[in-house]
Formats: sequence, structure tokens, C-alpha cells
Amino acid sequence: MNKLILVKYASEIFLKGLNRNTFEKKLRNNISRKLKGLNFEIIMDQGRHFIKVDEIEEGIKRIRNVFGVSEVCLVTKVNRDLDVIRNEAVKCIADVDCKTFKVITNRANKTFPLNSIDTSRDVGGFILHNSHKELSVDVKNPECAIHIEIREHAYIWSSKDKIKGVGGLPYGINGSTMLMLSGGIDSPVAGYLMARRGVALNCVYYHSHPYTSERAKDKVKELAKILARYTEEVNLYIVPFTEIQMSIIEKCREDELTIIMRRFMMRIACTLSEKLGIDSISTGESIGQVASQTMDGLIVSTDCADRPVFRPLIAMDKEDIMNIAREIDTYETSILPYEDCCTIFVPKHPKTHPKVDKMRKSEEVLDIASLVNFAIENMEVIKLR
Ligand code: ATP
Ligand code: MG
Repeated sequence: MNKLILVKYASEIFLKGLNRNTFEKKLRNNISRKLKGLNFEIIMDQGRHFIKVDEIEEGIKRIRNVFGVSEVCLVTKVNRDLDVIRNEAVKCIADVDCKTFKVITNRANKTFPLNSIDTSRDVGGFILHNSHKELSVDVKNPECAIHIEIREHAYIWSSKDKIKGVGGLPYGINGSTMLMLSGGIDSPVAGYLMARRGVALNCVYYHSHPYTSERAKDKVKELAKILARYTEEVNLYIVPFTEIQMSIIEKCREDELTIIMRRFMMRIACTLSEKLGIDSISTGESIGQVASQTMDGLIVSTDCADRPVFRPLIAMDKEDIMNIAREIDTYETSILPYEDCCTIFVPKHPKTHPKVDKMRKSEEVLDIASLVNFAIENMEVIKLR
């Protein structure tokens, strides 16, 4: 078969600041990893990646979900010969339901006798005379574009053979983060957005056995597994949280429970990151979404962090977050009923404007270090792929 998959990268790699070589190498490795199990070969032709794969549909599906890929096109590879190109272009448009078209040529190989514009003109004319359809050229707004790329070989495809990729930057190129992953809608989306910018993902889940069930834990595992479709293997750290909650309930003011609990989540995520060499923390918080996500609430939980805390959903509406969740396939899992450790221990009137000094003071009754250490020593690690 002379059908290949052409991979186009996100245009950002052309911006200054990103090293194109590193980017391409990483992207190529990531694509190879995603194609594992299929019979494939990556072919370079003058700076473009082409992929030959026996299972084409499956190949396209996997490649378009690799971060850094902006588009994939199913192309036909032919010899760099004008007659061959003309005939292939006629075949190509025969498969498309259209009345108007234009030809777009990109000539990377300057030894080809015609330049890009002349090639487009020539092939366009040939199509008009030789196609069995009623066609006319429309340069401004064609129903179909026939693309020709002239490199070592020539590659031809139509606009209907183009599929949008997920975009972003190659996974693993931009440091690492510890995502606080709950079973809700928001945090998986936050993790996806970070990973899409090339940040390597690790997840931590605070589990309040027996107040939260095995089912709640399975749900988080499932969400981490869905995220792992887009990334490499993801480590999920399941941290026992009951002792901490009991301690808080016993010793602290009821209206401060949630905020103190959130400070512990932050501390543990940071301690764990320190141990594992992870650069940052990410959460699914969005300003104003719930009582604990006020500006003051966010400031007070950030107070416990010793590294950057990223909240990619901070300025997004719930509706938009839900749309992304549907797109990335986490939504259906996220909406399954489950008990959240935060919903079990909710104060009747949670503090919405906590202050850092006051919270630090309130926590003095707790043995913070030993609570954090106990939780980390008793955590479980699950690898998901
Ligand atoms: P989500 O939809 O992600 O659960 P939410 O809108 O329910 O978020 P909260 O429950 O206040 O909001 O949680 C805010 C953020 O704190 C979550 O997005 C997540 O990053 C983190 N978080 C909350 N509960 C847990 C938990 N049990 N384990 C790990 N992280 C958690
Ligand atoms: Mg939640």
C-alpha cells in the first residue's frame, strides 16, 4: 500500500524558545510508544514525519491523540513525477463529494521543475479536463482542496483526508506535576490540560476508608487510566486520609474543617513531590465554584505549598469544563455516584474567607508532621497504563 499518515505538529514549535530538535525527537518517541502492538514504520522525508502502518484506522486514531500533533492526513505516496502526480490527483478528487476545488502545492524539493504555483495550476487544469465530475475551481472558498507535497517523493491528499489532532506539546517536555485527582469532573480535566502542555503527570488521591468506599477508589483509578491513554504510564498514589480527618474533627473548629483538610492535601502533595522529584502541584479548582474555592480559600491552601501550584481551570466556567470532560472521555466516569471525602465531612457553615495567620494558629493543636508522615508511609502506589 502506498497510503501513509502524515503527521503535522503544533505551530508553536516554530516559536522561539522551544527547541525544535528536542520537540521532534520527543514527539517521534511518543508516537512510537502509542503505536506499540501495530505493524508500523516512521519515515522521515525532508523534515516531515510519515507513518506507514498496516492498521490505518487504528493508527490514525492513536496518532491524533498524541500531544503535539495538530493534524494527521491520510496521504498517497507517489513518485516525484508530474504525470504520476496529475493522475493521482484525479483519483483523489473522485472520492470526494464536491463541485468546487483548488490545488495547494508545497514544493520542498526545489529540483522539481515546476514551482508550487505552476504545479497547482497544471494539476488543477488536468483535473478539470480529466475528472468524471462537473467541477470548477474556486480559490477562495473551495469545497475540496487537493494538497500536493513535493519532497523526495510526492504526497497527495484531499481536505477530507485531514483529521484534527489534539494539539499541545509533546508529553514529558515540560517538567512534571502532582495532580490532586478526586473522583469529580474537574481534576481529570485539569490533569489533561497540564499533560497537553507537555507536563508529565502523577496523581494523588486522598482516600477516607471506610467513609469512602472501594468503589470511590476504583472510580479514581479508572479516571487515572483514562488520563494514561493520553500520557505514558501514570502513577497513582492513594493516600489514607481518615486519620487526618478524624484528628481535625476532634481538635479543630467545625467551620474550619474543610479548609484545614485542604491544607493537609496540599502539604502531602508537596511532601510527596519533594520525595519523588516532582516539580509542581496541580488541582481542579476554579475560582468561586464552591465555598472552599474563594480567593481567600485558595490563598490559604497555597500557603502550605513549597512549590508552584497550578490550577488550569481557575478561570473556566463549569459548562466549559464539562465539555472538555466529555471530549476526553472522563465525564461518564466522573458523574458516577460516589462519596467524596470532602462531602462526608462538610461543616454546616464552612468558612469562606479564611485567613492564613488564623489557620496556622488553629492548626497548632495538631501534630502535623506525624500525620503527614503516617499518611505517606501508608500510601499505596498503582501504575496505570
Ligand atoms: P473535582 O470535580 O475535581 O472533584 P470539585 O469541584 O469537587 O473538584 P473540591 O471537592 O473542592 O472541588 O476539590 C477541589 C480540588 O481539590 C479537586 O479538583 C482536586 O484537585 C482536589 N481534591 C479534592 N478532593 C480530593 C481527593 N479526595 N483526593 C485528591 N484530590 C482531591
Ligand atoms: Mg470533588
